[in-house]
Amino acid sequence: MSDPLSGKVLTEHVRALADEIGPRPAGSQAVERARTYVRGALRGLGITEIEEQPFRAYNSVFYSLAGPVGTVALSNLLGILGPVGDLMGGALAAAGAYAGWRALRLLRHPLSSWAPTGPDANIIARIMPSGRLERLAVLLGHLDTHKCRHSQSPQRKHSLSTLLGANLGLLMLNSALQLSTALLPRRWMHTLRILSTVGVLGAIGMLVDDEREGFIDGANDNASAAAVLLGLGADLQQRPLKHTEVWLAFTGAEEVGCIGVQVMLDRYGERLRDATFIDLEMVGAGDIVYVTRHGLTPLAAYYPHPEALALAEKAARKHPELAIRPHDMPSIVEEVSPLVHRGFKAVLIAGAGDDGWLVNWHQYADNFSNIEPESLERAARFARAMLDELDRQ
Ligand SMILES: [Zn+2]
Repeated sequence: MSDPLSGKVLTEHVRALADEIGPRPAGSQAVERARTYVRGALRGLGITEIEEQPFRAYNSVFYSLAGPVGTVALSNLLGILGPVGDLMGGALAAAGAYAGWRALRLLRHPLSSWAPTGPDANIIARIMPSGRLERLAVLLGHLDTHKCRHSQSPQRKHSLSTLLGANLGLLMLNSALQLSTALLPRRWMHTLRILSTVGVLGAIGMLVDDEREGFIDGANDNASAAAVLLGLGADLQQRPLKHTEVWLAFTGAEEVGCIGVQVMLDRYGERLRDATFIDLEMVGAGDIVYVTRHGLTPLAAYYPHPEALALAEKAARKHPELAIRPHDMPSIVEEVSPLVHRGFKAVLIAGAGDDGWLVNWHQYADNFSNIEPESLERAARFARAMLDELDRQ
């Protein structure tokens, strides 16, 4: 019997998803084909408990970001009503700035509800332990793919954090200036406010400019994780855990705002309250790490749950042959964000390139030819080691 966690076997799943199906925008027919592939592969493993959890999703994070920024820009028009309008505008801009912060953390907010949507879904497969059920682990790998972003190119990615932090600061400043011109009208304040509004309009221009490219194959982001989940499904069927039920969650619409995982938490949050979540992102290239610091900008930073992090540390210590290390990722946002925001125990396994960044993050170069089977295998074996460790606790 072939080893389901070998790089060779895992690479075949990546080929099917990223090379044969190709780009898989949220809410598209292509991502539906990816779900069909995953369901077929799970059934082929003899896994019978497979649930499809439908929802609707937009296909670009643009909608989630442009809603808040546009709201702040438009709030300035209320100024024509005088000081009362300024107060209302300032409050609306504060709500927009808060929604902007949520968008950077890939958390939901109502200012994206204008976006056109398509049908999407999560696929959740459940694998029971051989003995008495005591614990629950959830493995996460999203099926959708992102657009190619110039703002995240190798040349420009290093200024991304500053740029996003400055834009978020600008939204907050604009709100503060609207409120203060209402209470203490000064000429210089008025001028500053106009300048900040021009800045906010510039941010909209940047968002529009970053939308021009097409969707990427997403071999690393995140067919690699889906492949590892399928490999672990096969491995768990051959060598089941004793006391831990495992959910394989092939989530939808991660790239646009972690919609799938939040839909799953809405439905199963109570049942998953004590579960351990192991998220996998871009594990198809580079050095395999567990991430100790996340976020696109320091203003929107977040950290893994201490218990989940301790589990990763312990598994890494017990398996020196895998050479897994902790890593502060320079820029990343994924499903650990909504999970830890809602108090769940979550940690991320990812691949880091020589420069410490995710490999080919949101670039056309994220295609099948740049997949490294050895990275896939290390990530799969490390995830299995974490599951074994959890099962022994
Ligand atoms: Zn991803």
